[in-house]
Amino acid sequence: MLTGAYALHALSDDEREEFERHLAECGSCARETAELTATAARLGMAVSRTPRPALREEVLRRVAAVRQQTPGPPP
Ligand SMILES: [Zn+2]
Repeated sequence: MLTGAYALHALSDDEREEFERHLAECGSCARETAELTATAARLGMAVSRTPRPALREEVLRRVAAVRQQTPGPPP
């Protein structure tokens, strides 16, 4: 019931403590929580590893532009 919110760290301290006590004695919630936590971690990783194509293009374009600039005279 609270497994989703728990996996996403969306519970208050009190709720979390109570839920962790429940996890200690409830195998199905413990299993569900472990799965949801793993899934959330995988999704988080996927998001940070795969930038939007437009963003990637923009970054590559800027890198190319910087490389093409010749150094100017010192100020
Ligand atoms: Zn339970």
